[in-house]
Amino acid sequence: MNIILLGPPGAGKGTQAQRLQQERGMVQLSTGDMLRAAVASGSDLGKKAKGIMERGELVSDELMVGLIEDRIAQPDCAKGFILDGFPRTQAQAEALDRMLAASGAKLDRVVEMEVDEAVLTERIVGRFSCAKCGTGYHDTFKKPKVEGVCDVCGNKEFTRRKDDNAETVKTRMAAYRAQTEPLLPYYGTRGVLRKVDGMAPMDTVYRQISAVLAGT
Ligand code: ADP
Ligand code: ADP
Ligand code: ZN
Repeated sequence: MNIILLGPPGAGKGTQAQRLQQERGMVQLSTGDMLRAAVASGSDLGKKAKGIMERGELVSDELMVGLIEDRIAQPDCAKGFILDGFPRTQAQAEALDRMLAASGAKLDRVVEMEVDEAVLTERIVGRFSCAKCGTGYHDTFKKPKVEGVCDVCGNKEFTRRKDDNAETVKTRMAAYRAQTEPLLPYYGTRGVLRKVDGMAPMDTVYRQISAVLAGT
């Protein structure tokens, strides 16, 4: 099964994709994580993306499509993938359709995570993750069980994203509204779009997504 998690920054896409990966063996394809890895490695892509990401703007469609095209072609994706952070523009959505058609794969569901804009800044500025395994946490909503220790791998170092500040969030929200939200009708008319309540507690959201996937 191949799905897209669609929602604004902070909606909970990464949180739910990580859990779907753990519990269902689907592969999480987070373009944000891929770009951050490219920035950390100092690759050409990373050099091009760094400033754009720090400003909260979108990286070019050409770079993003190339990145996801290479990733989707890898054998692990044959078990089913969760797109987290892609597509973000109409051009990316159309490129995805072409890629899937070329490989005989299909898009089963697009899950919209609906969240009131008022909570997004709080979610984003409180976000951190394990520096070793990438598990996501929150200062208030998802603290590690033992303070300062990753639940999953026991590591004691955490990182915070440079773009997770109230100022950059404004630019990222504007980019979402202008360029990504218009994808909702694009998928809606094709009958693959389903909504879940992203304001609910994480476990409830996970159950709602599971119900959507069970209905495919
Ligand atoms: P996205 O990938 O959509 O940007 P994340 O999954 O990283 O969002 O979630 C943003 C922050 O909000 C994280 O710190 C996460 O722990 C927290 N979070 C995610 N889902 C919920 C939820 N349903 N309720 C409260 N906090 C949440
Ligand atoms: P969030 O879910 O919190 O919005 P991501 O980790 O998905 O953040 O993305 C971080 C940044 O990486 C974005 O603000 C943007 O600069 C870049 N990015 C990630 N995915 C894409 C994409 N599909 N198209 C363009 N830029 C992207
Ligand atoms: Zn960890």
